[in-house]
Amino acid sequence: MGRYVEGQDRTQSVLFPERLDDWIHEDSTVRVIDVFVEELDLGKLGFERAAPAATGRPAYSPATLLKIYVYGYLNRVQSSRRLETEAQRNLELIWLTGRLAPDFKTIADFRRDNGEAIRKVCKEFVLLCRRMKLFTDGIVAIDGSKFKAVNNRDKNFTDRKLAARIEQLEESIKRYLVELDRADRDAAAVLPGRVAHLKDKIIKVKQQIQALNEIGEQMKASEDGQISLTDPDARSMATSGRGTGIVGYNVQTVVDAKHHLIVAHEVTNVGHDRNQLAHMAKLAKEATAEDELIALADRGYYEGYEILECERAGIAAVVPKPMTSNNAAAGLFDKRDFVYDDKADQYRCPAGSIAIHRMTSEEAGKIQHKYWSSDCPRCPMKPRCTTGKERRISRWEHEDVLDVVQERLEGAPEAMRLRRQTVEHVFGTLKGWMGSSHFLTKTLPRVATEMCLHVLAYNLKRVIKILGTATLIKAMRA
Ligand code: SF4
Repeated sequence: MGRYVEGQDRTQSVLFPERLDDWIHEDSTVRVIDVFVEELDLGKLGFERAAPAATGRPAYSPATLLKIYVYGYLNRVQSSRRLETEAQRNLELIWLTGRLAPDFKTIADFRRDNGEAIRKVCKEFVLLCRRMKLFTDGIVAIDGSKFKAVNNRDKNFTDRKLAARIEQLEESIKRYLVELDRADRDAAAVLPGRVAHLKDKIIKVKQQIQALNEIGEQMKASEDGQISLTDPDARSMATSGRGTGIVGYNVQTVVDAKHHLIVAHEVTNVGHDRNQLAHMAKLAKEATAEDELIALADRGYYEGYEILECERAGIAAVVPKPMTSNNAAAGLFDKRDFVYDDKADQYRCPAGSIAIHRMTSEEAGKIQHKYWSSDCPRCPMKPRCTTGKERRISRWEHEDVLDVVQERLEGAPEAMRLRRQTVEHVFGTLKGWMGSSHFLTKTLPRVATEMCLHVLAYNLKRVIKILGTATLIKAMRA
């Protein structure tokens, strides 16, 4: 006779009660979270109520609340309401908190009030990884990705969006007025109820226009000509897909090429990566404590002064130059066709003529040296070179640094593949964990705290996979 695996009788009494600890596997990640938080000096990290108050009602220990959050972000439960529920029914959380189940407001307030300290906890784990010698290759990849904010697209306004919306509403009013005119001319053509409805609509649309004009006034005070109504720090930014964009934040991460751990990250509300290279590379150098660091980044990070700052900080940047030459687009010789001789400080052009230094000027905040040849007017190749009197070649005063970066890139053809393999899947993983959702908090500092918890969870999971629970716990206790 067939039978199934049988469960226990719910009403069966146990003679020797089991301990809560027996229910948690030796290799469970909650044991790592428990040891990690217990080993932290929460007072030094700046957590509120790190020492219990002498009077009043006892509060929850910050260690308990931090454990709940780390567990939550590690297990894709980020909302404070869901964490409240889980703390009451989830055996691992019950074990972790010692059967404490704070309400959602206590949980949410902890994240809101301890942002700075939570950020330090994230850094503490990176320091632990450094002590465990997990960043020994000295190669990191930098990248940015856009994450959705709470702010809906319709609640974000730019000059263009505002003008388009007002125009659309004015068009609607015109349409309604035309219909009302028709009703005036021939009362039978439009139903009486419709006339009242149209009048009502015109009032409402006028109110909307007025509200938009008020937003326009507020926008004048905004530095970047944008306003977000739900989350004031969220910004409309373009994403990689053509014609697509989101209202959100640009999260910058630096990932180590050996174990793909996030060594540094930052949440910004600037829609591009151009001014991030030096800052992020320096954060990574500080976190890894490497004397020499190689920083790989895509062409979105190519900016002269950023690269110069990296070189001065002992960071070897490897960044491809964007192909934005107007000359190349017009079918003319590109700057790469002109060979620079640094000893003689002159260029050799495609026709073999020498272009010498003629003048220096400042363009867009950069000192540019100008070179040209006196052979240009008589040159048979001139139609392929310039439409002007002579072809002028510009050289930034620190262009030697960019030449070094280009040589470095040409000497490492695998660099960009390594960059992609290192950093891009990290964003995929983080976004996968977040699901189709957006950040749960509003404003840049709170979103930054939320991101720290995501990064900490990512790094914890990764190190557990690399070293195993037992080794990690041993290292934490060392
Ligand atoms: S036009 Fe002037 S710079 Fe261009 S190829 Fe001729 S000589 Fe050289």
